[in-house]
Amino acid sequence: MKRNVQRWILMGLVFGLASGLLANFLVGSNPEAQKSLKDVVESYIQPVGKIFLRLLFMTVLPLVFSCLALGVSELGNLRELGRMGVKTIVFTLLLSATSVGVGLLLVNVIQPGKGISSELKDGLFKEVEAKKEEISQKAGGGQVSRLESLVSSFIPQNPVASAVRAFDGEMLSFMFFALIFGIALGACRSERTGALTELLKGLYDVSMWLVGFALGLAPVGVAALTFSIAALLGGSILRTLGAYVLTVLLGLAIQQFVVYSLVLRVACGVNALRFFSSIRPVIVTAFSTSSSNATLPTTLHVARTSLGIPAKVANFVLTLGSTFNQNGTALFEGVTVLFLAQLYGVHLTLDQQVQVLLMSVLAGVGTAGVPGGSIPLIVPVLVSVGVPGEGIGVILGVDRFLDMCRTVLNVTGDLVAAQFVARGEPRMELSARAESPP
Ligand code: ASP
Repeated sequence: MKRNVQRWILMGLVFGLASGLLANFLVGSNPEAQKSLKDVVESYIQPVGKIFLRLLFMTVLPLVFSCLALGVSELGNLRELGRMGVKTIVFTLLLSATSVGVGLLLVNVIQPGKGISSELKDGLFKEVEAKKEEISQKAGGGQVSRLESLVSSFIPQNPVASAVRAFDGEMLSFMFFALIFGIALGACRSERTGALTELLKGLYDVSMWLVGFALGLAPVGVAALTFSIAALLGGSILRTLGAYVLTVLLGLAIQQFVVYSLVLRVACGVNALRFFSSIRPVIVTAFSTSSSNATLPTTLHVARTSLGIPAKVANFVLTLGSTFNQNGTALFEGVTVLFLAQLYGVHLTLDQQVQVLLMSVLAGVGTAGVPGGSIPLIVPVLVSVGVPGEGIGVILGVDRFLDMCRTVLNVTGDLVAAQFVARGEPRMELSARAESPP
């Protein structure tokens, strides 16, 4: 996302919040006035926000498919990657899952989305009510065994049908198809599949262009959406948003300083304090660019010169990690989905929270390491557990700052992974394997 667009989005948020709160204050407790305000919001303001959201939603399927399939296919043949590749992938997925786990735990404890009374929310999120039952039945209801329901929610029988119903709870199986497709694409490399890869790259570029176009309309969309919420919910929305931001920041800090310190000490045999002080340039660059990809040259430099990681390991793990290993993004996705579920009053069972965890890890894998790269991928996670995708309008205005912070965790996670791989990889083998590119 371009910086000036982000500035406009922030202005949209401030304008929407301020004017919504003013409207809420002006109607006060007069029931007639409250009803008229609600009518105006529903008939005129919310549809404006919907234009932007629908443009964003329509890119979700092609984007998810191309991102995941390409991301996985680029990992190549697992055997070809060798021990270093497998270690990197397994470690990355574990770190990502831990990161989302920390986030989910915090949202359950802090409950940032619960600050709004149910009377206030009454009727505001009508459409959620209709879907809630259907989704919870799919998640845990019915007579089928857990294994049976796990198999059917994961593995699609008909991927096209899953794509059609992706926004009604079948997103996970659609993602599974994209993953399998990517693995197959990576495994059978030929001239013909090369053309398919190029096609997917084209699809990805077009989808990202469309996302950029939709985000160009975001300032107006965000203003309309936040006006609607602030006008109907009043001042409590400010406290709620503040609690959400603090929850994300706390989660990022715990993963960065507690989890990574432990991992560095126990699994990598490295002094955490020295590690963090050596990577300061990386932290500053990630924070100011909000992009793992743009930070890559600095990350590579610091890994080699300050951390002493062998060049072959650094090149492989960090390049892969700048798109594949996104711990901060995964945590952010998990916290955001649970927060919005609380805000909309959607109760998520343990099974559904595990589903959010898995999908957030996948979303971290699929997210491009660019500013705002994770935004389009929150939508599939939201809708898969019955939370309206519209919810992202609520958090977009504060995303710029959160993006800067989560990118720091993303790149730190890459360096932790590189430390881990560097410790176990004997030098001789490293240089022998180094010749085969990832
Ligand atoms: N900005 C993040 C990165 O580049 C991706 C995201 O979470 O939006 O790492």
